[in-house]
Amino acid sequence: MTAITLVKGDITRQSADAIVNAANSSLLGGGGVDGAIHRRGGPAILEECRALRASRYGKGLRTGRAVATTAGELDARWVIHTVGPRFSPQEDRSELLASCYRESLRVADELGARTVAFPAVSAGIYGWPIDDAARIAVETVRATETAVEEVRFVLFDERAYEAFAAQLP
Ligand code: ADP
Repeated sequence: MTAITLVKGDITRQSADAIVNAANSSLLGGGGVDGAIHRRGGPAILEECRALRASRYGKGLRTGRAVATTAGELDARWVIHTVGPRFSPQEDRSELLASCYRESLRVADELGARTVAFPAVSAGIYGWPIDDAARIAVETVRATETAVEEVRFVLFDERAYEAFAAQLP
């Protein structure tokens, strides 16, 4: 059984085996969680991201996929970068958002990570309404077969925390 826990705070301050980054497909950094992870984690993360671009992901990491790098100076062994979909009122992209959680957990299993901290992927710059983002996140983690023992959602503000809390018993 995977325990789901909630924390309000900054994901870069968490101690976990793996910290998930809401990256963009370039893997070369951005705003929001991405910027915070690279700032606090130091240059080693970006170096490995650049190497991944040069080798396996010439066109960038596709939406819904995940890949791991070192966590640099963060209190974690790995950062798992996943690319959330931009919210669209015209098109249902929920399956891509669910895929971010499934693929991140698959990568975590490959690494042997037992504790994984997630932000609310797509719920910032990518505009996904937080209640729906929280529902997809929690439902997907619950439905995913994984050896990860703790999935910790780290929510940056009260509103996001409440949206996730509403999904838990
Ligand atoms: P996306 O582009 O996938 O929307 P963002 O980084 O803009 O990614 O936002 C994703 C979520 O992460 C938002 O709810 C945002 O408030 C939150 N967030 C931003 N910075 C941090 C942080 N340091 N720790 C945890 N969550 C954060």
